Amino acid sequence: MIIILKPSATKADAQEILNKIEEAGLKPLHMPGVERTVIGALGDERVLQSLHFDNYPQVEHLKPVLSKYKLVSREIYPHDTVIDVGNTPVGGDRFAIMAGPCAIESYDQLLETAKQVKAAGATVLRGGAFKPRTSPYSFQGLGVEGLKIMEQVGKEVGMDTITEIMDVNDLDDVARYTSAFQIGARNMQNYTLLKAVGETKHPVLLKRGLSATIEELLLAAEYIVATGNPNVMICERGIRTFETATRNTLDLNAVAFIKEKSHLPVIVDPSHGTGVRTLVGPMAKAGVACGADGLIIESHRNPRESVSDAAQALSADDFSQLMQQLIPFIKASGRTYKEVEYAG
Ligand code: PEP
Ligand code: MN
Repeated sequence: MIIILKPSATKADAQEILNKIEEAGLKPLHMPGVERTVIGALGDERVLQSLHFDNYPQVEHLKPVLSKYKLVSREIYPHDTVIDVGNTPVGGDRFAIMAGPCAIESYDQLLETAKQVKAAGATVLRGGAFKPRTSPYSFQGLGVEGLKIMEQVGKEVGMDTITEIMDVNDLDDVARYTSAFQIGARNMQNYTLLKAVGETKHPVLLKRGLSATIEELLLAAEYIVATGNPNVMICERGIRTFETATRNTLDLNAVAFIKEKSHLPVIVDPSHGTGVRTLVGPMAKAGVACGADGLIIESHRNPRESVSDAAQALSADDFSQLMQQLIPFIKASGRTYKEVEYAG
């Protein structure tokens, strides 16, 4: 429920209501505005009704929050949320480019790839140290050694970093060595993991599950925010459909839909969304055009040698060309992108 106070309501009036909400075992949200204060109350609707806030003289009106997801909904926070991934703002006016290899394979591989993607315009370096592979016989990642490589390369090249966390036991290491958590598609509904990252304030990129609905995705984001971490970015990375021509079907409806319903930033992953190198560019442009706040793209210094997801990895030249081609799309979407700083 959203409680809108009259412009004449004082701080003490707001505090009285906040206290009542808390005493009833519900979650109070304080949103002081320029003209009037708005208070959110989350929890059992029947308990909320029994508090009769409509009878309080300082209350202008009450509005129920209709969506199942509350804290991530624009019904509660109408304005776009901007999240700082290290020094990279994600959401709002600035368009964010995250790029790097699927997996961290070695120091040299990550360093070379990082220099290439940074020169082309990326500010956040991606790369997996813990890899969720379909086959147990495939490369599983370098683990903590990979995280250390990522920290070192990020510092050397001057990039923020993001990597996947698969296990709550790795939480401290991943938070210590990198700028943001990635929760992979296969873990979108791992509620223990969602709550664990929710206990921190470290930014989280939450990827859509392979067969997850948009509502399930937003409720997974709600878990993280409700636990206490508001720094969540949503990632559309393609879903399983009857279509087999491409690895996944990049659901751009979801991007426009989530932007309408939620204030959280949305990142498009055209690499996993298509699984096909030549389709990454067209779908990256489409992602920008339908309102994404950023892109996460796989690039490798030598795609043929990539130990995972080779078919979708862009070479340095391909990535750099794509970045140039994206500039007019980014500008047309009303965002800014620091092309000059990174051009040379
Ligand atoms: C990845 O980013 O390399 C990855 C494994 O992604 P997803 O969880 O979307 O499959
Ligand atoms: Mn990958």
